[in-house]
Formats: sequence, structure tokens, C-alpha cells
Amino acid sequence: MAKKAAVKSSPKCAVCKAEINDKIAKYVTDYEGQRYYFCSGNCMREFSGGPDTYVYD
Ligand SMILES: [Zn+2]
Repeated sequence: MAKKAAVKSSPKCAVCKAEINDKIAKYVTDYEGQRYYFCSGNCMREFSGGPDTYVYD
């Protein structure tokens, strides 16, 4: 159970920033070559309505 250093941190919901376990992530979409994770179908719909509001920096 050693800590992994410098591995990508777990993804966050692109809309509400909740942390997502990407092993169980069900709500995923690709937008302009970037993968986005969502905590719920609600957040995914929110993103679909205006992805440019939520794109990662
Ligand atoms: Zn969310």
C-alpha cells in the first residue's frame, strides 16, 4: 500500500469538483480530446448543456 508519487490525482467531477473514483466512474465523456468525469448523470447533463463553462484549465 505504498503511496504512489506523482501519479495523476484522482479525477474530479468536472461540474461540482467532487472526487471521483475512476475505477468505478460511470459518467465519463470526452470533449475536445480531454476526458471528463462526473459524479452523477445530473452533472453530466449539466456539462452537456455548456461544456465550455466546465473545461479543465
Ligand atoms: Zn458532480
